[in-house]
Amino acid sequence: MRLSRLAQDAKPSSTLAIDEEYRARKARGEDVISLGAGQPDFPSPPAALAGGEEAIRSGRTRYTDVCGTEELRAMIARKLKEENGLALTSQQVVVTAGAKQAIHHALCALVDAGDGVLIPTPAWPSYAQMVRVLDGRVVPVPLSAADGWKLTVDGLMSALSSAGGRADVLILNQPANPTGATYTSEELARIAEVVRGEEITVISDEIYERLVYDGPFTSFATLPGMRGRTVTVNGFSKAFAMTGWRMGYAAGPAPLMAAMTAIQSHTAGNACSVAQHAALKALEAALEGPEGREPLETMKSAFRRRRDLVCRLLGEVPGVTFVRPGGAFYVWVDVSAHYGRPLAGGRVVRDSQEMASYLLDDAGVAVVPGRAFGDDRHIRLSFAASAEDLTVALKRIAKALAAGT
Ligand code: PMP
Repeated sequence: MRLSRLAQDAKPSSTLAIDEEYRARKARGEDVISLGAGQPDFPSPPAALAGGEEAIRSGRTRYTDVCGTEELRAMIARKLKEENGLALTSQQVVVTAGAKQAIHHALCALVDAGDGVLIPTPAWPSYAQMVRVLDGRVVPVPLSAADGWKLTVDGLMSALSSAGGRADVLILNQPANPTGATYTSEELARIAEVVRGEEITVISDEIYERLVYDGPFTSFATLPGMRGRTVTVNGFSKAFAMTGWRMGYAAGPAPLMAAMTAIQSHTAGNACSVAQHAALKALEAALEGPEGREPLETMKSAFRRRRDLVCRLLGEVPGVTFVRPGGAFYVWVDVSAHYGRPLAGGRVVRDSQEMASYLLDDAGVAVVPGRAFGDDRHIRLSFAASAEDLTVALKRIAKALAAGT
């Protein structure tokens, strides 16, 4: 059987590979802790659970509109207005099976073969994979710790000139996976100015929006001139701890939303009707009062405390550096000072993959190698784990990296 070029190029997500290895060891009864998770370790809010049950019992089990139910799209439009100051109609919202599908369909609607897509890097691995599937041109924009892993005007301009002065799309993710970088509205406004001048369309991935610990969040489309050239992507996975329900959405200019709906009509058809009702109820509760917001606030406070805990404990790990994350639930840790020197048992690691294997073998801690995000000097630690597990894991990492010194 001959597989397609697409199939031959598609690499399975390496973040999932480490997770599989972790689960195999756990099943064998080994004492392992995962700091690899890309999802909140909290239950979905009660309103979501009740909404899901109600949907099943009341027979909301048929196809919905391709772009999602009118009720849910109207609720999302209300959320964007009330929480983000972004005025869009329900016709400018498309509900998708997770934010992942929203990004994929947005790229399908925007990228022709050879079109340049700017991806500030390190970045969530799926962006580049999705662009390649469409024969688009990935234009990485290298980020640096010195800039707090934030996209800067200089960085953007030099990536543009290395791309022959032209790019069609910018994927901006804030708060960012894997670095946790967050932006002020002034920083975003400077990027918006370049975007306006270069006539770039922006996919603004705001999936970690509710997990900003140190300041307000600005939705990119609210910046001057950006509403007409930005597709805002968000969803329920992270904010509402609803990863398994597969609920995401895109919101933006009507012609783009119509194109994404046409594409979706031939792929998913529509996002799951039961999950749509669950998401509707969760969002309605969050917009309507303290009771609905309470589970979200509890989760956010727990993540903020864990962020502080992990940063403190990382201070005791020899030979590593990191930038304190302002959002999301990851810390991006430079471990490259340990490359090429003997660690426990004389073992030498040369890259992030070998470092992840070493930490799993020696410390019993699963982390994600930075290579998957386009940077081999780093590993990603997730703090979607209990404070107890985080404490034990960080102490074990400290010991594993002190070995051999
Ligand atoms: N964007 C980023 C940056 C992510 O980290 C994730 C999930 N890991 C997604 C999008 C996709 O989220 P979902 O499809 O679950 O909504």
